[in-house]
Amino acid sequence: MAKKRADKKLLMSILAEIIKERKEIETQRLLLEIVNKRLNSKYAVSGKRLRKIIAEIPEIGIATKNICGEMPKACPVCNGKLKGVYVKNLQGKKILVSMKCTRCGYKGGSGKWRVGRYVFYWKPKL
Ligand SMILES: [Zn+2]
Repeated sequence: MAKKRADKKLLMSILAEIIKERKEIETQRLLLEIVNKRLNSKYAVSGKRLRKIIAEIPEIGIATKNICGEMPKACPVCNGKLKGVYVKNLQGKKILVSMKCTRCGYKGGSGKWRVGRYVFYWKPKL
């Protein structure tokens, strides 16, 4: 039997609970494992959807360990809009040095754009 799509509100509360408790989760695989264990076995969630939901929870941060790869068109973490960070070279020409996501914490540059690993962490409110 195919698994049903887990409810977004439920996922938000499960995610906040898990990450608040553990402070940091080292890989997306580990996070998925824990989340799917807490969900009723009829339901499942994918890594992509999980990241999208996490981007909407201000208390959860996502850090990425990047590896070499092509520059993405949209944020590889949350599919958000990327903003270029430029410097001017000696000829006064603008050069793109890195890209930052306007929604989550993704940052890429120097040819390292692809995400090799995700780290999820708890950001207490200020
Ligand atoms: Zn993003």
